[in-house]
Amino acid sequence: MAGIEPQPGIMDISLYVGGKSSVEGVSNVIKLSSNENPFGPSPAAQEAVRRAVHELHRYPSTDHAQLRAAIAETHGLDAARVICGVGSDEVLQFICQAYAGPGDEVIHTEHGFAMYRILAHAVGATPVEVAERERVVSVDNILAACNERTKLVFIANPNNPTGTMIGLAEIERLATNLPEQAILVLDGAYAEYVEGYDGGARLVESRDNVVMTRTFSKLYGLGGMRVGWGYGPQEIVDVLTRVRQPFNLSNVALAAAEAAIRDTAYVEKSREENTRLRAWLAEALAEHGVPSDASTANFVLARFASPEEAGACDTYLQAQGILVRRVTGYKLPAALRITVGDEASCRRVAHCIGLFKAGAR
Ligand SMILES: *Cc1c(COP(=O)(O)O)cnc(C)c1O
Repeated sequence: MAGIEPQPGIMDISLYVGGKSSVEGVSNVIKLSSNENPFGPSPAAQEAVRRAVHELHRYPSTDHAQLRAAIAETHGLDAARVICGVGSDEVLQFICQAYAGPGDEVIHTEHGFAMYRILAHAVGATPVEVAERERVVSVDNILAACNERTKLVFIANPNNPTGTMIGLAEIERLATNLPEQAILVLDGAYAEYVEGYDGGARLVESRDNVVMTRTFSKLYGLGGMRVGWGYGPQEIVDVLTRVRQPFNLSNVALAAAEAAIRDTAYVEKSREENTRLRAWLAEALAEHGVPSDASTANFVLARFASPEEAGACDTYLQAQGILVRRVTGYKLPAALRITVGDEASCRRVAHCIGLFKAGAR
C-alpha cells in the first residue's frame, strides 16, 4: 500500500533517555545523573559567552578555524584533521551518515553508549551488539563479530556507564585486525579524566582507519553548549565535512569552547578533584557493601545485590533529593551510575547509600 513511511530503521529507534534533573516536591536536588562537571564551566568560558552576546546577529564561522586551532594547539594535533560538531554526538552522526547504510553492520559493545545504536538505526544500518567481559570491552569478541558487512566499530574508552577502559595496545590490536572496509571510532568523551592518555590521538595519526571523538560536555562543563569534535585521517575528515552543516555551531558555543580549552588550569583542577573524590566515593561505597569496578571516568558504577535492590536504592535516593542514573537500558539492572560530584555531594550520596544499606527503606 502506498503511503507516507519513514526511512528504514527510523521506527527501530528507542528514544534516548537522559538523566533525571528534578524530583517532584524536592527543591534542592543533587544531580549526579548526567556526568556533568560539578564545578560548572571555566569562568573564562562564561566570560566568552557574555562577550559573544554582542554578536548574536552575526552568522558564525563556517570552518571553526579558531576553535580547531585552539584544540590543535592544546593537544598537539593537526588542525586540518579536526572537525567540530554539535556535541560529539553530532560527529558520531556524521560518521554513521557518511559510512553506513542499509545492509551495513555497526558494532557496539554490550554496555556501550546508547547513541551508537540510535545513530546506526537512523541511517538504516544494523547495530550489532558484542558481549563484554565482566564489564570490560573485549577486543577478541569484537573481532569475532566482524565480517564483510562491518562498516563501523564504536567503543568508548573509558566506557560509559562502566567506567572501565582498555589499553592502547589492545586498541591498536583491534584497529590492525579490523576488516579493511571498517573504521574504528574511539569515543573519548571521558579521555581527559585519564592522566597521560591522549584518547587515541597518536593512533589516529599512525593509521588510516581510526577516528577519535571528544567532547566539551564532561570535563569542560559545557554540556548545555553542545560542542564536540573529532580527529581522523584527512580523507575521512574531508568526507565528514561534506555532511556537516556550514553553521552547525553557534558563535556563542564556539567562543565558550575556545575559552574553555585554553583554560588549562581549570581543566587540571577539575581532573584532580575528580580523581580525589572518585577514589573517596568508591571507597565509601565499598565500606557500605557496594562494590564498583575501578573507574577511569567521572562516575562510579555502583553494583547492588539485585535489580530490586538497585531500584529501591534509586527510589530512596530520590526521596532524599539525590539523582543518580539507573542503567537497566545498558544491561546493568543491578547497578546505579553515580557521577562524582563536589565533595559535599559525594559525602551526601555515600551517607544516604549507607543508610539505605543499613535498612532505612
Ligand atoms: C556524554 C557522552 C558523549 C558526549 O556527548 P556530547 O554529544 O558531546 O554531549 C559521548 N559519548 C559518551 C560515551 C558519553 O558518555
